[in-house]
Amino acid sequence: MTCDRCENIVAYTRRYSGEKLCLQCFSKSIARKTAKTISRYNMIKRNELVAVAVSGGKDSLALLKVIDEMASVHSFRIKAVTIDEGIPGYRDEALGIVEEFCSKLGVEHGVYSYKDLFEMTLDEALDLRENKTSSCSICGTLRRRAIDHAARDIGADVIATGHNLDDVLQTFLINMLSGDTAKIGWMSPDTTGTLRRIKPFCEIYESELVYYAFINDIPFQSEPCPHMNEGIRTEIREFLNSLEGRHSGVKNSLYQSVLRVSQAVKSSSIKQKTRCKRCGNECTSSVCSVCSVISGLKGNQT
Ligand SMILES: [Zn+2]
Ligand SMILES: [Zn+2]
Repeated sequence: MTCDRCENIVAYTRRYSGEKLCLQCFSKSIARKTAKTISRYNMIKRNELVAVAVSGGKDSLALLKVIDEMASVHSFRIKAVTIDEGIPGYRDEALGIVEEFCSKLGVEHGVYSYKDLFEMTLDEALDLRENKTSSCSICGTLRRRAIDHAARDIGADVIATGHNLDDVLQTFLINMLSGDTAKIGWMSPDTTGTLRRIKPFCEIYESELVYYAFINDIPFQSEPCPHMNEGIRTEIREFLNSLEGRHSGVKNSLYQSVLRVSQAVKSSSIKQKTRCKRCGNECTSSVCSVCSVISGLKGNQT
């Protein structure tokens, strides 16, 4: 059987659309889809500097490759940043992979650590916690701030992360199930602001990124984080995958709903933005989430 777009042999069938593609045309289709997402939501403007947050997982490394190829053609610049949480072994392996991949592509790369920014590593922070706050929730709060810091430090206009369609859908359902509708308002693509956060892979299936990484020889860390406690996310991932298996395309239509619901929530609940009285970052309460996490942890220090 030959590819729908050239004379090569078919390697991949995209079930939800029926397209049959060879290896090269599949890779091109991922790049083209990403470019479409970027232009549809006006994610990157001319001459901007994009900080690509690279963890060492398949999504962020694939994003770095795709966006690096795009940068020269579309006149924007990129730099890679990695956050070192201070998880011995796990993060060191990832740092090595990212370092090597960046030098292969010729992309500048900076590393920022929790230790430097918050005066504690993740492991130290987790030792200090008294309540049952999950490690992923503490780490997520700190990582968000660390990435903001890294992006400002290199003078970036935009932060790009490797979140894919599956990640977005899982987060949406988690927010729905936990009653956290305010967070849903922040899920639509960010098109304003001084330091925008973009997810250029937000319309691409995770399974396609796994295949893309595989056929493009992208080295990635497969070992999961030792603190990972995904709880309900794993169940939701399996649920969505089994639905997609029987009804191909449901993930795409759920994504359309996420966009509409997010827009509706956003316009009905515009919170007055203010500045955190401790660190001066923009937030919606008098002390931001990062400062409250950090001061809570430091209060437990003896
Ligand atoms: Zn082809
Ligand atoms: Zn603060």
